[in-house]
Amino acid sequence: MRPEALNPLFIEARDLDGVGPKMMKPLEKLGLTRVKDLAYHLPERFVTRRVIADLDEGGEGEQVVIALTPTEHRASRNPGRGPYRVLAQDDAGNICALTYFGRASYTAKKQLPVGEKRWVAGRLDRYGDMLQIVHPDHVEKDSAAHMGRLVEPVYALSEGLTQPRVASLTAQALERLPDLPEWIERGQFERESWPAWRDALKLAHKDMNEPARDRLAYDELLANSLALLMVKAEGRRRKGQALAGDGNLRAKLDLPFEMTGAQKRSIKEIEGDLQQESPMLRLLQGDVGAGKTVVALAAMLIAVEAGKQAAMLAPTEILARQHFETLRKMAAPTGAEVAILTGRAKGKEREGILMGLLDGSIDILVGTHSIFQDTVNYKDLGLVVIDEQHRFGVQQRLALAAKGKRAPHTLAMTATPIPRSLTLAQYGEMDVSRLDELPPGRQAIDTRVISQDRLEDMAAGVERHLASGQQAYWVCPMVRENETDDIAAAEARYSWLKERFGDDVVMVHGQLPPDIKDANMERFASGGAKLLVATTVIEVGVDVPSSTLMVIEQAERFGLAQLHQLRGRVGRGSEKSVCVLMRGNELSETGRKRLALMRETQDGFRIAEEDLELRGGGELLGTRQSGDAAFRVANLEQVQKLLPVAHADARLLIDRDGGLTSERGEAARILLYLFERDWGVQLLRGG
Ligand code: ADP
Ligand code: MG
Repeated sequence: MRPEALNPLFIEARDLDGVGPKMMKPLEKLGLTRVKDLAYHLPERFVTRRVIADLDEGGEGEQVVIALTPTEHRASRNPGRGPYRVLAQDDAGNICALTYFGRASYTAKKQLPVGEKRWVAGRLDRYGDMLQIVHPDHVEKDSAAHMGRLVEPVYALSEGLTQPRVASLTAQALERLPDLPEWIERGQFERESWPAWRDALKLAHKDMNEPARDRLAYDELLANSLALLMVKAEGRRRKGQALAGDGNLRAKLDLPFEMTGAQKRSIKEIEGDLQQESPMLRLLQGDVGAGKTVVALAAMLIAVEAGKQAAMLAPTEILARQHFETLRKMAAPTGAEVAILTGRAKGKEREGILMGLLDGSIDILVGTHSIFQDTVNYKDLGLVVIDEQHRFGVQQRLALAAKGKRAPHTLAMTATPIPRSLTLAQYGEMDVSRLDELPPGRQAIDTRVISQDRLEDMAAGVERHLASGQQAYWVCPMVRENETDDIAAAEARYSWLKERFGDDVVMVHGQLPPDIKDANMERFASGGAKLLVATTVIEVGVDVPSSTLMVIEQAERFGLAQLHQLRGRVGRGSEKSVCVLMRGNELSETGRKRLALMRETQDGFRIAEEDLELRGGGELLGTRQSGDAAFRVANLEQVQKLLPVAHADARLLIDRDGGLTSERGEAARILLYLFERDWGVQLLRGG
C-alpha cells in the first residue's frame, strides 16, 4: 500500500484549477496525469530575453521582446494546412512576420488586431528574406507584463498546451508538495549540501539550479538501484535448475551460414550460465541484423536438449509471427516442436496450444505478452527469451519468471547499443553478451555530410535517384523542442517537395490520423509513392528494401543513436545505399566530430561509446517523453556522475536493512513508491 504521505502527489491532474477535459489529452501525451508528474515536469531550459527597440537591433535566433504593430493578416491559401501569418511593423518601419500553424491561428486573430501596438516575446528567425517569429511566446498590450519574464522556464509541450498553461499547472503542483522524510544517507546529503526534496523541486523550476537537479536525479537513481537490487536478491533466493544440453539437437541444425565469432562466443557464455543452478539473467546486445535470433534459438535448444521448454516473448504480434516463421524453419531438422500463441488465438486453436504446453509436446513457444497470462501453464519452463528488452518492464519479467516450478533462466535481447558504463543503469546487474560483429557480406551505407544550404542540389539529387527507379526517405528538420513546430517545419518541407515531385511524395508524422498515416505508409511500401517525407520518427518496422537513399536535414540536431537508427532504414536491399546528413552552418566542433563519426562507422557500439565521450548525449537512455526512457529526471551526465554512488548506497542499505524497516528504510519505501518502483516493495511483502 502506498504510504499516505504521498497521497497529495497522486491526485489527478484533472482536479487542478483550469484543467478541463480538453486539456487532458495533451497532458496525457506528456505523461502528466498526476500532481507528481507535473511537479517533476522540469523545465528543459530557461530563456533569457532582451528588450529591443527595433528589429535591426535583434540578432537572428535571439530571444527578444519588441513592440510591433500588425499591418495585415494573411491566411494560407490552403486553410488548415499552411501557416497563418500576421505582418507587423516595428517603430522604425521594419517588417516582421508572426507565424502560426494549425489551431494557433485563432489566437493570432484575437491577440493581434491590425493597427494596435502589441509587445511580442519570442525568437527572431529568418524566413527567406524576411524576419519572423514563429509562435510568439507572449503577446501583451504593454511592456510591463514582460518584465518579470526576462528569464523564463521552457517546458516540453504537446499540441494544445502553451508555456503559461504548463507554468500555472506546475506552480499548482508545487504548492501541494507534502513534507517527506529524508531518504538520502545523511553523510552524502551533507557533503553535497543538497536541498531537501521539496525545496529541490521548487528550485529546479526557477532556474538551472545544479544542486537541486542533482538531488532529484540522485533520488531517481537511488530508487532504481534499490528496486533492481531487491529483484536480484529475490532471484537469488529462488532456485533455478541447471540445464546441461548434450548438443544433439544443435548438431542437427542445418544453417545456410557459418556463425560469426561473436555469435559463437555469446552462445558459449549462455551455455555456461545455463549449467548453473542459479537462474541466468543475461542481456544479449546486438545491432539490428547482427543475428540475435539464431543465438536465441541455440539457447532454447539447449533447454530442450535438457528436457525443458523455452518461451520467447516478442513486443508485437508482427514480430512474434516473424520469429515463429524463422524459428520453425530453422528448427525443423532438429525435430523440436515450435508453436505460437498471441492474443489472436481463440477457441480450439488456443486450447490445443495450452494442452501442448501442459503435456510438454510443445518445446518452444513464441508469442506476445499473452504467453504469461495466468491461464498459460507450462509443463517445465526452463528458459525465457525476451526480444527487445526495453519495451518490457521488469515487472513483466518477474511475472514470467514466476511461471516455472523453479525460476527459469532469462535471456533478454536488445538492438539498442548501450555503452558499457551505462548498462548498469539501464539493466541493473545483468550479465551482458555483445554481438559486436555483423555477419559478412553486408553492404556498407555510403554516408555523406553536406551543407543545409544545398537544399536545391539535394532535391535535384533525389530527383535523379527516383528517376533511376529507386525510392528515398526525407527526414525533416527539427525546429525546437516543440513537436508542433517540428510538424510545421515538416509540412512546409512537404509542400516544397510536392511542387517538384507531385504525387510521388507522401508524408507521415505523429499527428496524422492513424488511417491516413497507414495509407501513406502503404503507398510508399508498395512503390506507389517514391519519396517518403517524415518527421523524426520513421516507424519501427518500416522495411522497404528498394528505398536506398536517406536525406536527414539538420542532422546535427539529432542524437547519434537516433541517426544510427534512422540510417538503419536504408541498406536493406541488394543496391548500394546512401545517407546524406545535411548540416546547418553554425556547427560546433563537437557537432562536426559527431557527424564525422557517423560518416566513418556503422558500428552502433562505437557510435554509442564515442557519442558518450563527445557530449554525453541524453538520447542514449531513451526518449524522455516517450515513456520508455529508463529515467525521467536524471540525464546522462547525472547518471554517470551519480549512479555509482547511488548504487553503492542502495547496496549498503539493502545489506543492512533488507526488509526496509529502519527509519531510513521506511523513508526509502516512500522513495520507491514515489518513483513507482514499488514492485520492489511488493517483493518484500511476498518474501
Ligand atoms: P537481429 O539481431 O536484428 O535480430 P536476425 O537474427 O534477424 O538479426 O538476423 C538478420 C539476418 O542475418 C537473418 O536473415 C539471419 O538469417 C542472418 N544471419 C544471422 N547470422 C548470420 C551469419 N553468421 N552469417 C550470415 N547471415 C546471418
Ligand atoms: Mg531481431
